Amino acid sequence: MKTVLIGVGQAGGKLADELVAFDYKRGYDSIQNAVAINTAKTDLQPLSIDTVLIGQDRVKGHGVGGDNELAAEIMDADIEEIQQKVGSRITTEAGSIILTTGLGGGTGSGGTPVLARRLREIYEIPVYVLAILPSTDESNLAQVNAGRSLKTITDTADATLVIDNDAWKATGESLTEGYERINQQFAKRIGLLLAAGEMTDGVAESVVDSSEVINTLRTGGMAAIGYNEVQAAETTEENINTVMTATRSALLSGLSITGETTAERALLVITGQPDRISRKGVEKSRRWLEDETESMQVRGGDFPTDSEQIGALVLLGGIQHSDRIEGFFERAKEAAAAPTETEDDDAKMFQNDELDGL
Ligand code: GDP
Repeated sequence: MKTVLIGVGQAGGKLADELVAFDYKRGYDSIQNAVAINTAKTDLQPLSIDTVLIGQDRVKGHGVGGDNELAAEIMDADIEEIQQKVGSRITTEAGSIILTTGLGGGTGSGGTPVLARRLREIYEIPVYVLAILPSTDESNLAQVNAGRSLKTITDTADATLVIDNDAWKATGESLTEGYERINQQFAKRIGLLLAAGEMTDGVAESVVDSSEVINTLRTGGMAAIGYNEVQAAETTEENINTVMTATRSALLSGLSITGETTAERALLVITGQPDRISRKGVEKSRRWLEDETESMQVRGGDFPTDSEQIGALVLLGGIQHSDRIEGFFERAKEAAAAPTETEDDDAKMFQNDELDGL
């Protein structure tokens, strides 16, 4: 699926940059165009994709700190200029627009909902958001900002694919190393999904096209992605279990959010050398995925690669229940109620299901 990427805020810019690098390295050419938007000049400088600095009249290139309301105001005030810069990159070839962002800060947290809303008003193609949840040890402000933003983004975007920073932390890693690894892991997952959705040359036994990705995400709400790969045996017969193992571990230990997760729809893409992929294994895996996620529909297909590994890419759309997301909103509610860091108004936001928009 040809996609235009827009990174908002520092994490958003870095993730977009990483995705472009992956797409280029593999020669998939799924990313049609990419741009990073920020209020902080220094966060844009290290990126290799095009950049747009916003809010110069308000914050003079120094960023908004953790003030996501200010970021929302800036995005709103500069929207015409952004629209012009971004719009020229969205050609008729594009099948989707993906905004990437970290929800716990200021610029991405506040700016993304405003931009997503505008893009949805203008374009027919789906607008998806790749949203990074702050880890549990980040500040109260990060939890509250992310809680508000996630509620608003989920109501606004066609689907919101959630990445949990907590799930991907490894012991002994510095924060920077950890972020870099997470960004690379997700660049690979999203890059593979977009490339798989573009396979039309019929090499694969069962092709995934972009409509399968779009249909899996069609119910809206939140989505998650998982991936894992396992060394393949020589023959297809021996690979029944290999395909099953890759699928199981993609869902149970490779998903972008941890804990039990059920969803309305799922997509299973098996990657690897076509003559090693076991059809029986694929069928078994699809049935297992259907049971495990309680999905009403599990789509599937192959993505041929020349790797010795068999990989399973799982996309869940319309998440119904997630231990981690429910825990996250609980924590955000508690953080909002904590008097020291947040204002009284924030506490009210989580008392019913309605959150103030940004
Ligand atoms: P902003 O520039 O104001 O939008 O804020 P940042 O993007 O710097 O940070 C927002 C949130 O994103 C933080 O609370 C972290 O949870 C997360 N974060 C920051 N940098 C990275 C990164 O490089 N990778 C990942 N996965 N998360 C990040």
